[in-house]
Amino acid sequence: MKSLVYTIILSIIAVSCSTPKKLPADIEYTIQNNLKDSIPNVQVTFDYSSDSNGLIILRYENDSWGDHDIFNCINRFDITPKPKNIEFLRDSSRIIIKTSPNMNHTLRYQIVQDYDGLPMNQKRYRPMIDATYFHILGMRLFMTPEAVFESDTSKAKIRIDYDDKTREGIFHSSFGKNTSQNIEVLREDLYASFFVGGDFRRYSFTHDQDTVYFVTRGKWKTFQDQDIFKILKETIGSQRSFWNDPRKGNFSVSLVPTYENWYSVGGSGFSSSFVSFASNNDKVTLAQMQWLYNHEMLHKWIGRTILNENEVEQYWFSEGFTDYYAYKLMLKNDRLNLTEYIDVINKEVIVPHYLDPVNSTPNAELTFEEYWSNYAKYMKLPYRRGLLYAFYIDNQIKEQSQYSRSLDDLMLDLFSMALHDKNIRFNQTLFIKTLSDYLTASDLKSDFEQYILEGKFIDFENGLPNGISIEYQENIPIFKPDTEDLIELEKKLKR
Ligand SMILES: [Zn+2]
Repeated sequence: MKSLVYTIILSIIAVSCSTPKKLPADIEYTIQNNLKDSIPNVQVTFDYSSDSNGLIILRYENDSWGDHDIFNCINRFDITPKPKNIEFLRDSSRIIIKTSPNMNHTLRYQIVQDYDGLPMNQKRYRPMIDATYFHILGMRLFMTPEAVFESDTSKAKIRIDYDDKTREGIFHSSFGKNTSQNIEVLREDLYASFFVGGDFRRYSFTHDQDTVYFVTRGKWKTFQDQDIFKILKETIGSQRSFWNDPRKGNFSVSLVPTYENWYSVGGSGFSSSFVSFASNNDKVTLAQMQWLYNHEMLHKWIGRTILNENEVEQYWFSEGFTDYYAYKLMLKNDRLNLTEYIDVINKEVIVPHYLDPVNSTPNAELTFEEYWSNYAKYMKLPYRRGLLYAFYIDNQIKEQSQYSRSLDDLMLDLFSMALHDKNIRFNQTLFIKTLSDYLTASDLKSDFEQYILEGKFIDFENGLPNGISIEYQENIPIFKPDTEDLIELEKKLKR
């Protein structure tokens, strides 16, 4: 008996020493850094068996996130043993391989950057690959056999091994820094992830026993790595304490320089990571980076935990409320003062929204197809419309509760609901129902219909907190503090 106990203990020790332990996975990918090849590329290899009909069907998104023709990034594709036929179906984002039934195959392909020259913010979601580094979203790196994810709600066990032929630089992904990663994820969480290698610099800090990683590269012209690292630290601290999230886990952030003559910052927030991009020129400021980091980080909760029922239809919430909270949390944490806060709402939201030629587009017309096919045209519309509406109802909730409650409480209710019921999806009905716990106004529903669904301008004449008034400039309502007691006004806005 005694010897059996020892055997078990010894074998546990043996297992924990032989890291990483190979777990049974639904699929195992090897990604190889081939940056020194004549065409720099990242090569992906995996084994997969055909089904009883002799088919292997792979999914690889050709048109997504405003990008088109991602199939152009596939440099070489081969499969052994040789199949009977391979079809690349761009329209349905599928690759169909016809071969013998139930036969194991090795599939190999290379991902390359499909344009010449330096990366531009406009192309930030396309693979960025040159002789010194790569930055690729999970959805642009991995072809997934259809059977690996049975549905949008089923998770797959995936093993990823990194093989660096160049023996230079680092490897990092949304799933951490190990060169062997075992993950169990939804398709969406594999898609919404990043993978980087090459000449990145990696920094980390510990927050509540979790490790937060920051990877960046290039020679920044207007700031130091440490400036952004500091912003990341502050943002993690303030947002985790706002949401009081019981979930543990590491977090990773990538920052890549892009090269345009104007200023552009952008990013995308995922479940346990986000990607960020900024023009490497003197037009980019730390204030813009602070907004960006607050915005992208918030998506961990708004968009990735509180899930939209229908993506673009609820962008007024997942983008608009996210932007409202990006600024509100910056105010609450003294990253913006009162004047800067009101100023940024005027300049970044109200003025461009009133001048936007598509500002009255009804929400129902902003379908996935319409929005993403005309991204340049609609881009910020749901952000601004949603932010102004969030500002409007936040003030109403405060006034009606004599400042004992605010929109913060409603957001925390939504987070708690989403945390306890994984099947819950955010939609207009859920929102109105939750809001009616906070507002008794009979026009709650008609306000929502007018201001969000129909896209009318909000009547702020009766919707501003005491201490702010409106000054019209060419029919655009500009917010102005009109009180002696600015400290009191700031306290109200922070509530
Ligand atoms: Zn966003």
